Amino acid sequence: MKSTRKGLRADELHKDNYERVACSECDETLKKDDDDDEVYAVRTCPECGQQWKELP
Ligand SMILES: [Zn+2]
Repeated sequence: MKSTRKGLRADELHKDNYERVACSECDETLKKDDDDDEVYAVRTCPECGQQWKELP
């Protein structure tokens, strides 16, 4: 799984007008799943299901 930072750099992700991370392909704001066992949160696109990890 790529990090959101890497996704933003690769233009797979972008920030919307409210500074929320969104999937560039689908133009959908990513959903956030906090996994208590991991230091990162998993961000999922509700449209295509691609996932990125968001590091703190
Ligand atoms: Zn997508």
